[in-house]
Amino acid sequence: PFFKEFLPDTPVPLAPLTAKLNANENPYGPSPMALEAFKNSAAGGNRYAWKELFQLVDKIADFEGVESKNIMMGPGSSDLLEKTAMVFFMNGGNVVSADPAYMSLIQVAKSVGATWKPVPLKDDWSHDLKAMEEAIDDETKLVYICNPNNPTGTMTDHQELVDFCSRVSEKVPVFVDEAYLWFLDEGAKKSMVSLVNEGKDVIIARTFSKIHGMAGLRVGYIVAQEATLNRLQNITRGGMGISLPSVYAAMAAMDDAAFIEKSRTLNAECREYVYKSLAAKGFDYVPSHTSFLIFPIEMEGKEFLNKMTELKVGVRAFQFMDKNWCRVSMGTMDEMKMFTAAIDKVLV
Ligand code: PLP
Repeated sequence: PFFKEFLPDTPVPLAPLTAKLNANENPYGPSPMALEAFKNSAAGGNRYAWKELFQLVDKIADFEGVESKNIMMGPGSSDLLEKTAMVFFMNGGNVVSADPAYMSLIQVAKSVGATWKPVPLKDDWSHDLKAMEEAIDDETKLVYICNPNNPTGTMTDHQELVDFCSRVSEKVPVFVDEAYLWFLDEGAKKSMVSLVNEGKDVIIARTFSKIHGMAGLRVGYIVAQEATLNRLQNITRGGMGISLPSVYAAMAAMDDAAFIEKSRTLNAECREYVYKSLAAKGFDYVPSHTSFLIFPIEMEGKEFLNKMTELKVGVRAFQFMDKNWCRVSMGTMDEMKMFTAAIDKVLV
């Protein structure tokens, strides 16, 4: 039942691409304010950034409505997903998640000896919370939920997830990865962070890589109970891997409301364009809540990727639910036009 990812013959980071739509990066970032802050602080790079990091933590705590002791920083949320996996699974156990899901935490858990208990998404692409709860056993050390989910771009109902996290976290901690939550419209962005204030054993991951366009500057964080963070920080160190200019850039990015709005609006415009263009060619697609979307393709994934890479368009290809899928990130409108032109040549 496990989903599978295809790789092209040219290693992905080395492919000479003119439309780079394979890593869910934000084509507009970093924000002008973040860039300015990064440049202006670079000369301070002879010092460790602990003081500035504490300022950033306080700012994030304010923003999230939690206390600073509930925040742990990392150079990207990947670092925190991986550290969580190492600490939680160093003595084995299993991790319950959706299938397909974002694999970074799960891969590390498996590599230190855990087993993965995948639970297929439902037909409406939401998490099968009932089946996930049933999959929890005495060996389950963590439940991982990515909402909105990657690689599908789809959502699970907020209230159902709140109920699930509240109930299940009595038995086992729940990790909710909200990397893409900020692409939702104002009002629809409903985080699980408030559960931390209710004392629930949930861990919420956020990143500056997506809406803030800072994937290469490496800043992310988790929000959790102090005891959970202590458990992680007894073994690993939070925030040590973030460079001083990146700390300043993150603080500035949080204040750049115009850039955040621009990212959200242009991302939604590109999604609409791709929906229309795919529909006009007779393709199905899965409506997305993120900065990427998937659609089924009738071609083996590796062959598809090689043909797209030849046209200098980078995308991803997966196999699940008995189908091959293309996942395309939203780039600039020009990049999306290159993508649809390449689809015409490769698939139509
Ligand atoms: N979580 C999800 C769901 C992602 O898609 C990604 C990156 O693509 C990450 C976490 C990790 O991002 P970063 O390490 O840049 O914060």
